[in-house]
Amino acid sequence: MKIYKALLMIVLFSSAYISGAFFAAVKCMGQIEDKTIPFTVIMYHNISPKPSLQGKYCVSVNEFEQDLKYLQDHGYNAVSMKEVTDFAYNGTPLPDKPVLITFDDGHEGFYIYAYPLLKKYGYKAVVNIVGSFAEQYTKLEAENAPDAHNPDYAYMTFKELEELNKSGIVEIGDHTYDMHKLNGTRRGCSKRSGESAENYRTVLSDDLTKAQKLLGYACGEDPYIFAYPYGIYSKETPEILREAGFKAVFNCTEKINHISCDNIDWLFDICRYNRPSGISSNTFFAKME
Ligand SMILES: [Zn+2]
Repeated sequence: MKIYKALLMIVLFSSAYISGAFFAAVKCMGQIEDKTIPFTVIMYHNISPKPSLQGKYCVSVNEFEQDLKYLQDHGYNAVSMKEVTDFAYNGTPLPDKPVLITFDDGHEGFYIYAYPLLKKYGYKAVVNIVGSFAEQYTKLEAENAPDAHNPDYAYMTFKELEELNKSGIVEIGDHTYDMHKLNGTRRGCSKRSGESAENYRTVLSDDLTKAQKLLGYACGEDPYIFAYPYGIYSKETPEILREAGFKAVFNCTEKINHISCDNIDWLFDICRYNRPSGISSNTFFAKME
């Protein structure tokens, strides 16, 4: 009896392996299965022509344009996250040297300075929005407040996000509704020390639902991209994001991603290089070459 059972298990496991390999081969059609592709993701935050604002999380307008020129001159192809998920889920081939441009937090500076340059160079980007920031400036815009669109410190409104999403150039990601904080006992969207898994799941899920509702309403579709505030998360976080329907998650680890179309796990742990001000495009990109 034991022998029959063992034989049955061997047959079941082999057929599962063969069919899995078959489907991976079909999915990755036209590409060499098991071959990984280097995938670079850049993380910007704000952009401003004012030197007093520039620093680790704010580049100058010229630095951003020089970066776009560098990518163009060095054969990089700026892809959308849609192309990347199509590659992972359906095996749709990516262009050579794929690079993804991301901007976190949803600063007005993106709309004023970066968006026109992306249009000029024909490049795409993902902006990861903090729902409560967008909501706050949408209210100020409705009140005709003079600082509603201040390029130094304002955040993009839902109206601007709708326009960006419709452009086909910019994809909108979720950066939590109201967990972009380091004060208090919770760091970003991570689990508090001593917090029960159940309570954490409820808190994070409620925040995700709120952000999805607002961003989904503004853009006409729910974001499927998520970026961890400050790159901080707990061991429970990826599973909660997957269950909430997200298909791609960014961290803040500075590393080249090696991606393939025979699995999707890497989509939930995408590494990015923070682009600070004060160094040339050559110096910044040298570590990725
Ligand atoms: Zn952020």
